[in-house]
Amino acid sequence: MRILVVEDEAKTADYLSKGLGESGYTVQVARNGLDGQHWVQEFDFDLIILDVMLPGLDGWQLLQIIRRRCATPVLFLTARDAVQDRVKGLELGADDYLIKPFSYAELLARVRTLLRRGPPRETEHFQVADLQLDLLQRKVSRAGERINLTNKEFALLHLLLSRQGEVLSRALIASHVWQMNFDSDTNVVDVAIRRLRAKVDDPYQPRLIHTVRGMGYKLDLQP
Ligand code: CA
Repeated sequence: MRILVVEDEAKTADYLSKGLGESGYTVQVARNGLDGQHWVQEFDFDLIILDVMLPGLDGWQLLQIIRRRCATPVLFLTARDAVQDRVKGLELGADDYLIKPFSYAELLARVRTLLRRGPPRETEHFQVADLQLDLLQRKVSRAGERINLTNKEFALLHLLLSRQGEVLSRALIASHVWQMNFDSDTNVVDVAIRRLRAKVDDPYQPRLIHTVRGMGYKLDLQP
């Protein structure tokens, strides 16, 4: 079992590395967010222990990068005993959290529980901010409210979520969602986007579906 520990405090990092190593896990330590990103992108881990306050790239940003790539369980370490932080971490896709300072026994119990949940599932569940899409159950919700979409709207949202942050051209969207070439009539895409926005974006904050002038659409936290 390989565990990545992303933690900038040398003392905590050494403590985790030593303890988990003695418990039989293979541990890789990253001392800042960018190193963490490198390890996440280059190697597969069974679990990631992620500190929130990190130089370079913070734990929130790294968690979003991790979730775009894989469903590896993430245990958040937060020094601040703030409910806000914990909610944010869980909303961004963390599986569990631990408040510093913690005992090693407590950490090990959490680690074992997360690893027992078995191999990470394929990405069937997408989440950006409070928008969630469950592929298997074909459910969409935002801010905890269930949203009913037509099949095409669902396919469109799935496409946007699965390629979060990428600008998708109208032609690409048309070919994916309608399996047709809409060279001459990409208006179909604009209409579908408008309907989707009315359901998943207009009544909520922040806006997630962005128009990129002359290029197409993208779904992301930032425009
Ligand atoms: Ca830190």
